[in-house]
Order: sequence, then structure tokens, then C-alpha cells
Amino acid sequence: MTCTEFIAQLDDLLEERVSKTLRVDLEEHLRTCEHCVITMNTTRKTIEIYRSHELYELPNELRDRLQKAILAKCKKC
Ligand SMILES: [Zn+2]
Repeated sequence: MTCTEFIAQLDDLLEERVSKTLRVDLEEHLRTCEHCVITMNTTRKTIEIYRSHELYELPNELRDRLQKAILAKCKKC
């Protein structure tokens, strides 16, 4: 799995919407890629902040910015 693939599934992972097989693949990627661990933690925190303000939808613009920032760092993965 590449970082791009991981990030594409990240929302579903955080919302527990992934299949068992996919989850295993995602967790496997996390073991080998600290950038994606950081992305996941940042995204999770951002979602929690939005939820605590009762804004359930993460703005697409913010999501894009998070994903672009991490992919820029992650090109060598
Ligand atoms: Zn990665």
C-alpha cells in the first residue's frame, strides 16, 4: 500500500467503515510509515475538534490541505 492509498482510506478507517482485510493492510502500512501515523493522529485530532464544536463535516478545503501537506513530505515512501 502506498501513502496515497492509505490517505484515501483514512476517513473510513477513523470512522470504522473498513473491512477487516483492509484494516490489516492499513495497519501494516502504519507500522512501516511514520508519516502516515502522524497524518492519522492529526486528522483524528482535527475531526475531534470539529465534533466538539458540533461541526460534523470536516471542511473539504481543510482535508485537502492536510492531505497535500503530508503527501509532500511523503514522496519518498
Ligand atoms: Zn505512508
